[in-house]
Amino acid sequence: MKIYFATGNSGKVNHADNVLDCEVEQLDIETVEPSIDSIEDIALSKLEQAAKKTDIEDAFLIADDSGLFIDELNGFPGPQTAFFDRKVGKNRILDLVEPGARAEFRAAIGLFIPDGDNKVFSGKISGQVVEPRGDGGFGYDPIFQPEGQGKTWGEDPSLKDETSHRQKALMELKNYIDEHLI
Ligand code: IMP
Repeated sequence: MKIYFATGNSGKVNHADNVLDCEVEQLDIETVEPSIDSIEDIALSKLEQAAKKTDIEDAFLIADDSGLFIDELNGFPGPQTAFFDRKVGKNRILDLVEPGARAEFRAAIGLFIPDGDNKVFSGKISGQVVEPRGDGGFGYDPIFQPEGQGKTWGEDPSLKDETSHRQKALMELKNYIDEHLI
């Protein structure tokens, strides 16, 4: 069975393809991100929009949302993480907090269930915001250092295949598919 991943980010598609037992193909369609405070509800909204725009049979459909939640900023930028980067620039987070500030990356992945309630799977990882190091990965990788690691994700993006927020959410999805759908 094939999985279509409704996202503009091919890096996420490759990651999902490595984790899941099914072939994962990118579905690069526009969705509008609602201005709400839950990445789970945003992922489900993107999923419903993608499902309405496509006619997929004999395949699964998934969509996701993710963000960086900084403790001392009450979880900001959280669901606005992409918006903050576009409008202000990700490194400007360090104008708001000192290096070492505690933060969490969170991911939510929605799975379309035809004739049923869609499912959502979550994952998170703790760490700290640091001065940018490394130019690997994408997005905020150079300024995020996961707990217990001496490197940022920008210095060693391969760390993400083992312990990232997205990896954990993908494993939840994989377990669900293996148990209920295959
Ligand atoms: P979205 O889930 O594609 O909307 O991404 C939300 C924001 O979080 C974007 O600015 C991404 O660059 C950033 N982001 C999401 N996941 C990661 C990650 O694994 N590493 C670094 N940045 C990420």
